[in-house]
Amino acid sequence: MPFNLIFSIINFSGLALCLVFFALFLKLYLDPKIPKGTALYYFLTGVMLFALAFALALLQPSYANNGYDPAYHLLIVIGLIFVIVSSRHQINLLGMFQRASQQLKEQTAALTRQTAQDSTILDSVGECLFAINEQGKIIRFNGQAEKLLGWKTAEVLGKDLVDIVPGYYDENGRMVPKNKRPPFIALRTGKIVRINWFTSRYSLMRKDGTRFPVSGSVTPIILNGRIVGAIGIMRDATEEKDLDKIKTEFVSLASHQLQTPLTTINWYADMLLAGDAGALNAKQTEFVEELHQGAHRMSQLVRSLLDVSRIEMRSLNINPEPTDIALVCRDLRHEMEPIISGKRLSFKLEQETGLPKLNIDPHMVRTAIQNIMSNAVKYTPEGGKIKLSLKKRPRGINLDISDTGYGIPREQQAKVFTKLFRGENILNKETEGTGLGLYIAKAIIDKSGGKIWFESEENAGTTFHVSLPVTHIKAQKGTTELSRRRGILD
Ligand code: ADP
Repeated sequence: MPFNLIFSIINFSGLALCLVFFALFLKLYLDPKIPKGTALYYFLTGVMLFALAFALALLQPSYANNGYDPAYHLLIVIGLIFVIVSSRHQINLLGMFQRASQQLKEQTAALTRQTAQDSTILDSVGECLFAINEQGKIIRFNGQAEKLLGWKTAEVLGKDLVDIVPGYYDENGRMVPKNKRPPFIALRTGKIVRINWFTSRYSLMRKDGTRFPVSGSVTPIILNGRIVGAIGIMRDATEEKDLDKIKTEFVSLASHQLQTPLTTINWYADMLLAGDAGALNAKQTEFVEELHQGAHRMSQLVRSLLDVSRIEMRSLNINPEPTDIALVCRDLRHEMEPIISGKRLSFKLEQETGLPKLNIDPHMVRTAIQNIMSNAVKYTPEGGKIKLSLKKRPRGINLDISDTGYGIPREQQAKVFTKLFRGENILNKETEGTGLGLYIAKAIIDKSGGKIWFESEENAGTTFHVSLPVTHIKAQKGTTELSRRRGILD
């Protein structure tokens, strides 16, 4: 084979290789991710120039002719210089890699130390702390959680929280369904869920099957706008529960003790007014009437307080029986007639036909409806309108009571069902009231499996809605009953 041909093949393939090298490194060199001035940048410059030098050298015709050409040697020298330059940068690069890996080792060690420290801090938190991932699996369980719930961390990690720690309504109540458990509400809504034993009466089950009341909160973990888990902090609320019990028992005892002297005062006032102790003059009659009314108001308060403590102590007798709600409403309306006509109120009672009978405790539900109806009558000024409607629903009855009265100020509406709440707008219009009627009504309706809610606008009116299921409430053997009273006519 002629030498010229061999040289040409070597020449052209070498040239092609050099150009490919050049193009590849130029592409990398122009990559904006490689900052100028770094070792990699210089290394690429070196390799690129080296490839270019070789390409130029190979283009020299004297190379192909195998002859002496100083230009060829000059280009080889330039190429070598670039090789040395690039090697130097390669060495720099190696150093840099070594330094980076050393730094990485140090950072990993620091991170491990930090993690161990965080773990110790979390384990030392005095409250039960757990974390779950977005699927509800336990990813963290601190020392206090182990103590409170009886599980070891190794036993629960990766397990479903709902299976490991079941939650209950009340200590003897039903199990809370998964979608209503605070951790899952936090995961679903991305909002903090607070658990207050006083309002939620929520309890958890330990490994050994015992239950305890809890208070605490569950906070969602949000990463880059996405909910990736939740952290719960709980504590045993047994002390709060015991204190609440002592308070309820005290209120109950005090109310019982107050009842006897109040009855005596009422009796004697009645007798004095009846002239049993001789005729009274006008001034004396006025004073005794004041006394009588004051004692009555106090009796009402005492009875409401007793009802509250009976509901809270769960000592009520509950006797469900088929009840005609329309009849209860008509009876109550009849009872309130004197005040309704005295205030020249228009009172409409509308009912759909074929309303089912509800299996409820008639006395308890009567008390609840009475409290709501008497409010409508009390907080509607003279000449106003009240409407009570009863509607059939697939599984029960809806009862709506609307009035054109004073309404409830928007900023106070959240407190309406709390104990002792009285609206600021009615304080000097209607001085009589205990602020317990709606609390009692809500407690009864909740117990009966129903719902109560309202809409109100100040100086325009209020509508209370009550939904009651046909059947829900279970009979309960208690030691006492709600007081029988005649509301505002009492
Ligand atoms: P009270 O004995 O004061 O009537 P309730 O618990 O029955 O106690 O009601 C609490 C408060 O709610 C009342 O004091 C009043 O401010 C407000 N309220 C309840 N019902 C009505 C209503 N129909 N219209 C206006 N305000 C109402």
